[in-house]
Amino acid sequence: VNDKPNKVCKTTCPYCGVGCGVEARDGAPVLGDRQHPANFGRLCVKGSSLHETLGETGRLLYPKINRQRVAWSQAISAVADAVRASIARYGTDSVAFYLSGQLLTEDYYVANKLAKGFLGTPHVDTNSRLCMSSAVAAHKRAFGADVVPGCYEDLELADLLVLVGSNAAWNHPILYQRMKDAARDGRKVVVIDPRQTATSELADIHLSLKPGSDALLFNGLLSWLASHDALDQDYIERHCSGFQGALEAAGASAPSLEAVAEGCDLAVADVERFFRWFAETARTVTVFSQGVNQSSSGTDKGNAIINCHLATGRVGKPGASPFSITGQPNAMGGREVGGLANTLAAHMNYETPGDAERVAHFWDSPGLANGPGYKAVDLFDAVHRGQIKVLWIMATNPAVSLPNNARVREALARCPTVIVSDCTADTDTAAYADILLPAAGWGEKDGTVTNSERRISRQRRFLPLAGEARPDWWIMSSVARELGYGDAFDYNCPADIFREHARLSAFENTARPFDLGGLSGLSNDQYESLEPIQWPVNDRFPSGRTRIFDDGQFATTDGRAGFVAIQPQAPVTKADTDYPMIVNSGRIRDQWHTMTRTGRAARLWQHRAEPFIDVHPNDLEKRGLNAGQLGRLQGPAGEFIGRIQAVTEQREGEVFIPIHWNQQFSAQALASDLMAAVVDPVSGQPESKHGVARLEAF
Ligand code: SF4
Repeated sequence: VNDKPNKVCKTTCPYCGVGCGVEARDGAPVLGDRQHPANFGRLCVKGSSLHETLGETGRLLYPKINRQRVAWSQAISAVADAVRASIARYGTDSVAFYLSGQLLTEDYYVANKLAKGFLGTPHVDTNSRLCMSSAVAAHKRAFGADVVPGCYEDLELADLLVLVGSNAAWNHPILYQRMKDAARDGRKVVVIDPRQTATSELADIHLSLKPGSDALLFNGLLSWLASHDALDQDYIERHCSGFQGALEAAGASAPSLEAVAEGCDLAVADVERFFRWFAETARTVTVFSQGVNQSSSGTDKGNAIINCHLATGRVGKPGASPFSITGQPNAMGGREVGGLANTLAAHMNYETPGDAERVAHFWDSPGLANGPGYKAVDLFDAVHRGQIKVLWIMATNPAVSLPNNARVREALARCPTVIVSDCTADTDTAAYADILLPAAGWGEKDGTVTNSERRISRQRRFLPLAGEARPDWWIMSSVARELGYGDAFDYNCPADIFREHARLSAFENTARPFDLGGLSGLSNDQYESLEPIQWPVNDRFPSGRTRIFDDGQFATTDGRAGFVAIQPQAPVTKADTDYPMIVNSGRIRDQWHTMTRTGRAARLWQHRAEPFIDVHPNDLEKRGLNAGQLGRLQGPAGEFIGRIQAVTEQREGEVFIPIHWNQQFSAQALASDLMAAVVDPVSGQPESKHGVARLEAF
């Protein structure tokens, strides 16, 4: 029931990790929220088109079993029966959940509680695995916890801004605007990316490095800082451990400026200038994003960057921090509730003594999952080999997005019971569903999300539920009740769940940065009017904390940050004579994920109307191809067809393709078909920016 028609509703954009505040009203164009500290009233083209994506067209409106409409009671019973039967026959390990950074924190919390806490399956992972899991692992290794130390204001305060593997102009447009507006005399920007992108327009130096050589570059920087007396020795001695090992590894892999330049395929003078600027500029922020994370050594790359910040004492200080920018609106909220297969709720872990017992006790769990479960790629492998009998997918489209996609689709086809909760009726993944559950969409659901600067914001409801759609937390709680866990899932509203989540995060441990104890007593009205706030929120920081680790106290057992010795690794997938081109993939400015929502807004098709392949003109000439014709990228396990664009900003021998097109918009333009299921051994994040293919005319 819409109890707030025509009222302006302050909510949050559901797309990227900037987490912009939105003012929305049923039937009217959305506006930016001038009071929201992420965007101060601005919206990018995706955000400002949100009202064009609403309505019932294309929505999944009713529960269905085997494509036939059923009542909710039947659908809930069918899910519960499938789960119960699978566990009875094959054990808890036979049930898996695949979640999404599009879920609200409250939905995410209930999913993890149900799966890990009550069904006892550890196999719960999320599409955040494809996005930020390498940054998560790097944070944990360096800081002892998955914490972004800084805030958006640091991007403006920095006198040197280093952007690594980030086309923020397209992927985090409002942050890019803030960075651009902060231009001033003496402020410098270095962009490190194989491609020259729209973001490069900000750059004083663009380092168009060889794909995969980021760790070598930052090892070289660490070594150079040491040999040019540019370290903060006092900070290293008082607040860090492992420096000598990291420095020796850096020196071994990057013995000279020339070796770094050669290994990264850069000019010595450009590398030297970047190193000098980094050494000279106390207020330096290094932003890193998918270009770093989506790699078979993404965690090491993240730590190579963080090493340089630790070595100069630039962590959590105004205008000085390493800064991982997340991809999805609630990638961080999922991390908070234990959405990743290797984590537990409230930033706890299986491997930290006492954490599992604490979570189990708090939930009064009948049998908590007893260790980390499968990460995304391994999870779908387990589905493929028949170990997973019931797979519940929520708010994500793995039949488009996961690497080695043909095998993923095969796995979905083989799985005995696939349950899909989504707001869209006909996603590529929904085609494999035995049970379809209509989920509430943006504007219809209530809860919180956490953006890239740890800021929790409310997503609020201003629309009636479409058809018989229901919030995800309601769907899962109903299944839990059907399974006999009613007491533990007796939620009436998202505020009930948020309070429980906040209570779980608050226990006696001063080393834990993630603490929402100060929000655990919110009344429903206070939750409804909750203003955006950065965690932690507790007695010490009742209004939230802008920066963390500014006091040099880290979340490790000894309170010291850890340097990590990095041995740079080349990408696992290698070009050869059959597949000589390196394939990079990523987002475009006006589309989001697999287009199930942005594909409905006509104006968002104006930027790029069809799948494309960006190619350097010399590569076209070598192959006798022309810009404007259709090209085929043939990879070892699949192909991608797109319109060829001649782009001088592309390095020779490398192409760029978009990730968005699903099979309904174009049957042969899945970027994931060209990506091998190769993952980072620490984080499990796939190498989604490094496929190989040969380019030919279509
Ligand atoms: Fe939405 Fe991101 Fe654009 Fe902000 S920058 S309006 S969060 S897509």
